[in-house]
Amino acid sequence: MHCPFCNHAETKVNDSRLAGEGRQVRRRRECLNCGERFTTFETPELVMPRLVKRDASREPFDEKKLRAGFVRALERRPVSSESVESALERVIHSLQTAGEREIPSRQVGELVMEELRRLDEVAYVRFASVYRSFQDVTEFQDEIHRLRELSDSDRRRNQMSLLPDEDD
Ligand SMILES: [Zn+2]
Repeated sequence: MHCPFCNHAETKVNDSRLAGEGRQVRRRRECLNCGERFTTFETPELVMPRLVKRDASREPFDEKKLRAGFVRALERRPVSSESVESALERVIHSLQTAGEREIPSRQVGELVMEELRRLDEVAYVRFASVYRSFQDVTEFQDEIHRLRELSDSDRRRNQMSLLPDEDD
C-alpha cells in the first residue's frame, strides 16, 4: 500500500503478527522513500448476506433484531445468557459461511428455531407460534406433536447409546 505520509508506492513489512485473538494480522511497515513507519491491520471481510423477505423485499441483516428474537422467546426461561450468545453466534456463523449474497429470511427463522428447540421447548413453541403464525389450533397442536416426536427420537437415540444391547 502507499505510504500515508509521502504517498510513495513502496513500503516494506518489518513485522507481521496475529492480533485481536487471531482474527487480525498486524503489520509494521516502513516507507522506502521517507522512512516513516506505520501499522496496518488486516481482517477478513465476512459479508453478511441480505435477507429476502416473503414479499421479495430485501433488507440488511440486523444482529440486534436477531438477538431481540431470541430474548423475546426466552423471556423468563431458565437459559443462561452464555448459551443464548453461543446460539446466536452459531446462527451468524452459518449465515456468514453460507457463501450467499442473499438468503431467504425464512432460512434464518429455521436456524433460530433449530437453536431454540435445543435450548428450551417453551421458547421454541413461543417463537414458532409467532414465526409460523399458526392459522388455527390444529396447526399449533401439530407443531407441538412434531416437537414431541423430535425430542422422543433424541431421547431414544440417547438411550440407545447408553444401553446398546437392550431392545426398544
Ligand atoms: Zn513515505
